[in-house]
Amino acid sequence: MRQRLQKILYVEDNAVNRLLVRRVLTHAGYAVLEAEDGLSGIQMAQEERPDLILMDIMIPSMDGYQVTTKLKTLPELANTPIIALTAKAMEGDRERALIAGCDGYIAKPIDVDRLPLQVAEFLGGKREEIEGGAEEQLILQQEYSQELVTRLEERVRELQKANAELRRTDELKSKFISVAAHELKTPLTVIQGYLTMLLDTRGHMYPELNETLRLPIEGIAKGLDRFNSIVNEMLDITRIEGGTMELHRDLMLVKDAVMGAVHRLESAASERGLTINLSPMAGLSPIRADAGHLRQVFFNLLSNAIKYTPDGGEINISAKMTQGVDVTHPNRPTSPSGKFVEIVFEDTGIGIDLEEQERIFSHFYEVRDVDLHSTSKTRFKGGGLGLGLAIAQGIVEAHGGFLWAESEGLDEERCPGSRFHVLLPVED
Ligand code: ADP
Repeated sequence: MRQRLQKILYVEDNAVNRLLVRRVLTHAGYAVLEAEDGLSGIQMAQEERPDLILMDIMIPSMDGYQVTTKLKTLPELANTPIIALTAKAMEGDRERALIAGCDGYIAKPIDVDRLPLQVAEFLGGKREEIEGGAEEQLILQQEYSQELVTRLEERVRELQKANAELRRTDELKSKFISVAAHELKTPLTVIQGYLTMLLDTRGHMYPELNETLRLPIEGIAKGLDRFNSIVNEMLDITRIEGGTMELHRDLMLVKDAVMGAVHRLESAASERGLTINLSPMAGLSPIRADAGHLRQVFFNLLSNAIKYTPDGGEINISAKMTQGVDVTHPNRPTSPSGKFVEIVFEDTGIGIDLEEQERIFSHFYEVRDVDLHSTSKTRFKGGGLGLGLAIAQGIVEAHGGFLWAESEGLDEERCPGSRFHVLLPVED
């Protein structure tokens, strides 16, 4: 029977050293695994459970001492020998390595003739001990703890700085979107004004105008329409981010806003062979909401359901009264009456990856490739600006409601479908 090769994990950022050690130890009959930095070293050690770990000390992300201390806290690795490798050769290196949890110490440069023997000794049970008394060990321990805290403080400062920088970049991005949208709106309005002089109310060119211009002018009108909706999406997100969205609330029925969205999209759905099934939506309390904004929420959800469902699929829209959901979210839904109307858009489409289900609500978030961008709101898998769900969520939350997605996962073959739930509070 063939014996299992003993596994050695070598954590080292220098590729030349890795190659050297791999050659020497493979030749000596070991299986060698490699990690380039501290964090991947921890992950690999947990996944692969090596028989011994060779730990370079000067490695990126976390140094070898910190990685060793971390590994020794994991019960499954507590007894795995960890041998420090360091070229620093400063006084106290050996002691620091042992205090950090290493079981031995090998000074660099590596002596290739001796390395297999040194490894075999540690695998055979050799363990190095710190010389000196308990008092000396305590001092070393304190020094090491202080060093860890200092490093931690440095890291927290670095993170704070990076966070502030990110926030500034995000503010700049928001400002850019806002300025760009406002600047674009002006010439857009002018072009639209001139165009309406050439078109009737249905968007067709007046018959007395030159027939050869019909196609290009109607084409320009369609393009402009899409252009306008992109600029409006940019303005919407600016208002949502800045908390300046104005809601004109009136008592209304959810069903009316749903029907408004359905009417706008039903011909696009039927062109793609998609069936939209509407539940009766009877017995629902009226809600106090901005009808135009809610229509936009339902339009975005329905156009997504159309976009991410293959031809011939089904979209079910239903609504019921509920007591709400139990969520620990900063924008938890609130209802004065404790009652909500819950509207569900369910499709038989490609579904959403479990890990993406929260992220899809972020601004400009698209799961797919930017190359798949499409000007169409209904073409199969045609990506848009990536703002539709962020806007829908902003509007729902401004009403004190909640919007979330559910899906078994993304599978373009099996099409597990997705469900988007909208929860809207009922006032009395
Ligand atoms: P987009 O303009 O890209 O459609 P959205 O904000 O509307 O932007 O949606 C963000 C992402 O969420 C989409 O790119 C898509 O990957 C995913 N998504 C949204 N709705 C659905 C759905 N019904 N089925 C599958 N994926 C969806």
